[in-house]
Amino acid sequence: MARLPASAAPERPEMPTPMPWHRQAWEAAVRSGVPSMLLHGPAGIGERRFALAMAAHWLCEAPAEAPRRPCLECPGCRLVEAGNHPDLRLIEPASLAADDGDGEEEGAEPRAGADDKPKGKAPSQAILIGQLRPLNELAQLSSHRGGARVVVIHPADAMNVAASNALLKLLEEPPPGMRFLLVAHRLQRVSATVLSRCMRVALPRPGFDEAVGWLQAQGVGDAPTALALAGGAPQAALDDADPVRVALHRAWLRCVSGGGTTALAAARETKEAGAPQVLTWLVQWTHDLARVKAGARPRFHPAEAATLQRLSAAMTLRAITRLHRTLAQRQRWIRHPLNAQLTLEALWLDYLQATGAR
Ligand SMILES: [Zn+2]
Repeated sequence: MARLPASAAPERPEMPTPMPWHRQAWEAAVRSGVPSMLLHGPAGIGERRFALAMAAHWLCEAPAEAPRRPCLECPGCRLVEAGNHPDLRLIEPASLAADDGDGEEEGAEPRAGADDKPKGKAPSQAILIGQLRPLNELAQLSSHRGGARVVVIHPADAMNVAASNALLKLLEEPPPGMRFLLVAHRLQRVSATVLSRCMRVALPRPGFDEAVGWLQAQGVGDAPTALALAGGAPQAALDDADPVRVALHRAWLRCVSGGGTTALAAARETKEAGAPQVLTWLVQWTHDLARVKAGARPRFHPAEAATLQRLSAAMTLRAITRLHRTLAQRQRWIRHPLNAQLTLEALWLDYLQATGAR
């Protein structure tokens, strides 16, 4: 497919083309021709990029006989790529917008802890009703460039109830020529009525080798580790390739691998990573423990296969599953722990007691 000249500028917007592992989903979505879609899948695998590519597809001004849309060459495609197409609205939580430029746009659950800002009022992680109000105005206007008007909501599961209701009104009676692209990571958090108004497009996670190959092509050193750190999500891995995070992960890995540590010591050692991040890693780690116990390849920590093997050998599959479930349940309330040290100790106690990794 035609590519625009690559630029090294870090603030360069994402190119509106789908990731290679989303080709099949892309073809199906394009063929469907529906006006509104809900894209769903894990965070950080290129779902935002898919949405922008679909927006560009709808806004492309290439002649009808063009071999591909988006053509990436017409004014419509160029405006989408530059992030200032007048008929495109991208609605995201303030926390993502505030992080523009340091590559957090795929921000999501796996990196909750890293998002905590030490000073000032934290920007909202929700999409608020005020962000949707201008859409009513947009609905009254005609298209600037004579084509469709496209609204991208990323992620749709971050909309609060009021915002969700406001969107529903638009989805129920879509203004002529207005199309919607919702991106969701957790479908259960999207209201059923909103869901019922959109065609769902599932976006798969790429296989390990494909993701590593893609990261290497983007110039990421030690792509397997970067991928593991990002929970197998390559776009997140690319955004996150950060030496500080690697060091935090290494400290966590020492604790999780055993070697005489106590919950108290482990909590201290992983304090900087933060409880939400430590928990995410533990949930992924216990997922891998269960996979290895069942004779499968680890998904999140392929480089730690030997440690996973050793730890899982000392446990029953039932014990691993129970531990994994306990930790996964804790994810519901972990985002704002009242006492980080106590929370971390409780997590490590769960883990160390169950695995005997002491
Ligand atoms: Zn075009």
